[in-house]
Amino acid sequence: MSATYRGTCLCGSVTFELCGEFQSFYLCHCHRCQKDTGSAHAANLFASGQLTWLSGERDVKTYQHANSRHVKSFCQHCGSAVPTAAVVNDWVMVPAGSLDSAVDIAPTAKIFMASAADWSRCLADVASYAGFSDTATS
Ligand SMILES: [Zn+2]
Ligand SMILES: [Zn+2]
Repeated sequence: MSATYRGTCLCGSVTFELCGEFQSFYLCHCHRCQKDTGSAHAANLFASGQLTWLSGERDVKTYQHANSRHVKSFCQHCGSAVPTAAVVNDWVMVPAGSLDSAVDIAPTAKIFMASAADWSRCLADVASYAGFSDTATS
């Protein structure tokens, strides 16, 4: 069912609205996604629908990795991942963390697990806290 979702970057310059439907939700552990997120994996939703920039469209930069389909859009001020609309097809890739609206589908799959960082393979076993742990340094 089509719905309206809203999102923002961390600094608030870029705001957007997506009218559409999420088709899939992948946690990609490939090397490229590790590099461009600085983390264990990307968390990207794929939607059919219409992306509208509500503010900051000129602050959105898109990096297309050479000789691949790997692409990442981000706010030029804060570096936050923001959606990328495909040029040819009617779909939009939405980084899950960029959304302020609730996501109504669960992750479809973890992909490229053969490339996953060794430290990210057993995260369910790591101690969890509601906020900072006693040993946090930041
Ligand atoms: Zn920003
Ligand atoms: Zn990836």
